[in-house]
Parts: sequence; structure tokens; C-alpha cells
Amino acid sequence: MASVKVAVRVRPFNQRELDMDAKLIIQMNGKKTGILNSKANTRDESIRYKEFTFDYSYWSHDDDSEEFASQEQVYKDLGTEVVDCAFQGYNACVFAYGQTGSGKTYTMMGSSDNQGLIPRICKALFERMAEDSKRGTTHRVQVSYLEIYQEKVADLLRVTHYGHIQECMNRGNSHRTTAATNMNDVSSRSHAIFTITFVQAGYCDGVPSETVSKIHLVDLAGSERADTTGATGQRLKEGAHINKSLVTLGSVISALAELSIESHGQKKFFIPYRDSVLTWLLKDSLGGNSKTIMIAAISPADCNYGETLSTLRYANRAKNIINKPTVNED
Ligand code: ADP
Repeated sequence: MASVKVAVRVRPFNQRELDMDAKLIIQMNGKKTGILNSKANTRDESIRYKEFTFDYSYWSHDDDSEEFASQEQVYKDLGTEVVDCAFQGYNACVFAYGQTGSGKTYTMMGSSDNQGLIPRICKALFERMAEDSKRGTTHRVQVSYLEIYQEKVADLLRVTHYGHIQECMNRGNSHRTTAATNMNDVSSRSHAIFTITFVQAGYCDGVPSETVSKIHLVDLAGSERADTTGATGQRLKEGAHINKSLVTLGSVISALAELSIESHGQKKFFIPYRDSVLTWLLKDSLGGNSKTIMIAAISPADCNYGETLSTLRYANRAKNIINKPTVNED
């Protein structure tokens, strides 16, 4: 039995927050992330300060602090496990959750000189395949990059070689649906799902066998509530779709958490995978035989207190899922 891993990563202040002299309300200590309600007019410490424990709490401000996490560190902690999972024949899902501008894309994609999880995982997968093929295993890799925008799915690419992936990811990224909101100059209003289907073919006791694993790497749309972004018309409609799928993802997660706490899978629970396109697509990587990693991206600033607290609560709910590992064999 393996539990879901949940990490929180706070980004540095952005220019807008620096310009408005925003205050730092996040504290990290070991695995703990604390949030201070600097506006609360009370001495009640439980209202003024809330603390959560995650598998990892990643700091981004001063690189001397123990909690500071580089892109490489995040990959070492979370990405290597995904690669191991794929080679062992399990499914995996990594998703980045958080309000727009909180660091989801930075963590998942990164930049060309500071790559995030997706390119690092792809690179490691292909390096390990090259080593493995020397031992007689053959592999097939299929990659899809899907966008869910207003509950409609679009496939952004289709590639089979690592050499094409970087280029195609850039192309896929430039195709993502973005629009301006008051929250940030450019806001991601769609979910981006990068999926690697990994087939290992070899012999088991002299009999040909194939193992198939699926890795979903998901950069979710901004989680901010529609009313805080000043959205109307089309933007409001987008917000409603985004909220619906994130709420459904939350319901699926809490149903799975309940399932694991109550019965370790003995009792029948209704898991509402079909309530959104997002959860329907991620079905095989949430619960069951898969490894799930959630990265909650947050702002350090007091002006984002409400959204940050709601992200921390969402991440906290995800902690209790326990997946039952079974290997996919074709
Ligand atoms: P989101 O995908 O959540 O909308 P982004 O990943 O685009 O947010 O991040 C917003 C900005 O903050 C970007 O300019 C990004 O480079 C920067 N940023 C985010 N997280 C970090 C981090 N951990 N360290 C340094 N810069 C970061």
C-alpha cells in the first residue's frame, strides 16, 4: 500500500506583490507549511495561524534555507519515483494545483534553462530505456498532450521519439488557451494533460510479455474563484467549467480517501469520475493501481491569503488516499 504524495511549493514574490509591499504569510519548517492570517483581529492563535503537514514543503526564497527546493530537487524527490513506477509497470499521475501565477507551469514545465518535471521525467525515461534495451527489453512510447478547455478535449501533439518531444512541448504550450484576467497578465484557463504511455516488452519465464504503464502529468487550470477575478461573459463561463472539474477532482480525491480509510477497498463507494472530463481522463491514475502525486503551488503574499488557504486545504484533503498497487499486464 502506497499513500499519495502531496507537496506544497511556495514561489518567490512577483513584481506586482513587491510593488504593493506585500507581506510574507507563509512559513515552512521541515514538512510543515504554515499560513498566517495577518488581517485577523483576534488573539485566537488557531484563527491567526494554521499549519499543515505534507510530504514535502518547498521554499523558493533564500537558497541557503533547508527547505529551499531547486527544480532538480523537486525532480529528485517526486520525478524519479514516477520513472521508477513506469518501469515497474504501475500508472502514475502528477498534478499541479493552485491559483493562476502560483508556479504550476514553472514546476511542471519550467523554462529551457531551468527545466521542470515533465522534460526531466521524459529525459530520464529515455535514458533508462537505452540502458534497459541492452538487456533485451524493447520499449514503445507514445506521448499525447491534451488540453481540456470548457470540457472539450484537444490533442496538442503525437510523438514517438524523445528528440521531438521538446520541440512539440513548446508547440503544444504555445497552443494552450490563455486569456487575460485581473489576477495575472496571462492566465491558464485550461487543464493541460501530458500523457506518456510506456510499453515494455520482454520475456517472462520464456513467454513473451508486455507491461503497459501510463503517466499523466497535469498542469491544472487556475483554481481561483470566479468572483475574485472580476470575470464576466466568456471568462465567467470558463471559470464555471474550471470550478466544476476542480470540485469533481476534489470529490474524487475525498471519495478515494474515505474508501481507503474505511475499508482499504472492501466497501463499495461511488467515485464520481464521470462528472468531469478531467477526472474521466485521469481515472486510471487516481486510486486503484496508480501512484498519485499532487503539487500545490502557492503565493507567499498576504494579498492572496484566501486562495492560498483554500489551496492548502485542498492539498490536505488529498493526503489520505491509499492506492492498492497492482501491475498492469497485457
Ligand atoms: P501558473 O502556471 O500557476 O499560472 P507560473 O508557473 O507561470 O504560474 O508562475 C508565475 C511566475 O512565477 C513565472 O514567471 C515563474 O517563472 C515564476 N515562478 C513560479 N514558481 C517559481 C519558483 N519556484 N521559483 C522561481 N520562480 C517561480
